[in-house]
Amino acid sequence: MISEKLQEALNGQIAAELWSANLYLSMAFYLEKEGFNGFANWMKKQSQEETEHAYSMADYVIKRGGTARVGAIEAVPQSWNCPLEVFEQVYDHECKVSKMIDSLLDAAIAEGDKATQDFLWTFVREQVEEEATASGIVDRIKKMGETAIFNLDQQYGSRQ
Ligand code: MG
Repeated sequence: MISEKLQEALNGQIAAELWSANLYLSMAFYLEKEGFNGFANWMKKQSQEETEHAYSMADYVIKRGGTARVGAIEAVPQSWNCPLEVFEQVYDHECKVSKMIDSLLDAAIAEGDKATQDFLWTFVREQVEEEATASGIVDRIKKMGETAIFNLDQQYGSRQ
């Protein structure tokens, strides 16, 4: 059976995962409005993935004899200036989530709860992927920006 303390910590993470799902959905709506349908599609999938994380955590808490709860979910940001800003925020947010997962794992280690440690390692690995994916998109958008400027430079260079 899971301890009350770890149960509460996991319930806190369930709320955090749902907040992330809402953040990415909000970003999807912004991107779609701006005509970036591809990014919007990616972001909706990302949102669904966060909801799945919440399901998986709730499932685990229940399997260990605990009670899963959906706590208060605060409002998420609703507007950005450009896709680069959006994806920079995704990267920063995923880095924060990685720290949250690390703290959960520390709590499970402190209690000697091996099953919860094992459960959380999946999320530790998941965060490596999340951070790498987000930072990859940020890099690509930045390079696209440079390519566009380079093309403009070429156009002006041909002035007679
Ligand atoms: Mg997640």
